[in-house]
Amino acid sequence: MLYFRLRNFALPACAVALSLAAHAQQPPAAPIVLHAARLLQIDTGTLLQPGEILVEGERIRAVGSSVEHPQGVRLIDLGDATLLPGLIDSHVHLFLHPGAEDLQTVEESVPSRTLLAAQAAKADLMAGFTAERDMGTEGAGSADTAIRDAINAGIIPGPRLRISGNAISILGGHEDAIHYNPALHVLSNADYANSSDQLIEVIRRQHKEGSDFVKIYETGHDTVVDGNLRSPYQYTEAQLAAAVEEARRLGTTVGVHAQGEPGTLYAAQAGVASIDHATQLSEETMRLMREKHIPAVPTFAIFDYFAQHAESPAQAAREKALLDYKIREFKKQIAAGIPFAVGSDVGPFPHGTQARELELMVQFGMKPLAVLQADMINGAKLLGWERQIGQLKPGYFADIVAVPGNPLEDITAVERVSFVMKNGVVVRP
Ligand SMILES: [Zn+2]
Repeated sequence: MLYFRLRNFALPACAVALSLAAHAQQPPAAPIVLHAARLLQIDTGTLLQPGEILVEGERIRAVGSSVEHPQGVRLIDLGDATLLPGLIDSHVHLFLHPGAEDLQTVEESVPSRTLLAAQAAKADLMAGFTAERDMGTEGAGSADTAIRDAINAGIIPGPRLRISGNAISILGGHEDAIHYNPALHVLSNADYANSSDQLIEVIRRQHKEGSDFVKIYETGHDTVVDGNLRSPYQYTEAQLAAAVEEARRLGTTVGVHAQGEPGTLYAAQAGVASIDHATQLSEETMRLMREKHIPAVPTFAIFDYFAQHAESPAQAAREKALLDYKIREFKKQIAAGIPFAVGSDVGPFPHGTQARELELMVQFGMKPLAVLQADMINGAKLLGWERQIGQLKPGYFADIVAVPGNPLEDITAVERVSFVMKNGVVVRP
């Protein structure tokens, strides 16, 4: 009863807020032409010099070296810059910040974490990330539903989001706050599921609470012994397949945290949408990833950050050993021709700095254009916005950034984004 009274009471205020928000979200009425010294066509690698884009409402209408300038057009000249599609981060944690590791569930309330997540979303957008996949609130439940919905309603600035709610993990598993006094029952960073039936039940509850996709922890805890990674699996192939099937029934996908074999193989066999971290992949796993077009999301930025910010020399040595191992395996994965997407795992390191991920992928062996294609084309597909974002083409959403110089010659240009448009609205002039 109380529930309905509260709902009825809340409705009018809510309706006002939403109508105001809808107004704020409206793209400007006048068409916009963006002009810059260069424009990169991501699919072909063609560099137009100069480049122009006509934006009408929320969509791109025309792209070329020169486009029609309709009457009343607002011309924005970005000078010696390169126009690119908005950056996509396929692995973020809006609900994490530096220093939040496990104990955030004890030390920070969910409302306070939600406010920080709103700031994180803004920081990522201003850095040029116009679309992101949030891989788990790490103990804040479905609070990411509120962040996504507030962004979509124009109440707060942020990227287009695909969200998972909490990730899912086993009892006593990789994210179960296992380093503390068990009698205290420190809250897990994930939702528990220990069988196929429990996976399905948790997925249905998360779906009810607003999740867009499913995030599952498939491996951990990781150790490097004698130069080799050991990362125990958490779910069998049959259990992952049950989760993938339930996600498919709901029209969505499963992304897994999976560092090593055999968990990475089980994930590929089960048909997940992405294998995140993907440090150790067998020949058979890579064959399946090519065949099913399952991208690896290496997340070098987080490994690099932990190696550089360890608490002790021994910890630094462990992190460095894991990163070195990862770099060696990445070179094999590139040679094997598996698909990649770009995800940074930002959150434990500061939001807005994660374009470093693209720099690291180039540093460790990929060509700049290949990294941009992995980020934008594979990223758009992974997030379920294929042919909507990730390229500068007529009919696509006007998610556009400008970077100084030429990112094909110096990929670090993406770390200095100077202009951001999302959905036809200039969010960073
Ligand atoms: Zn993560």
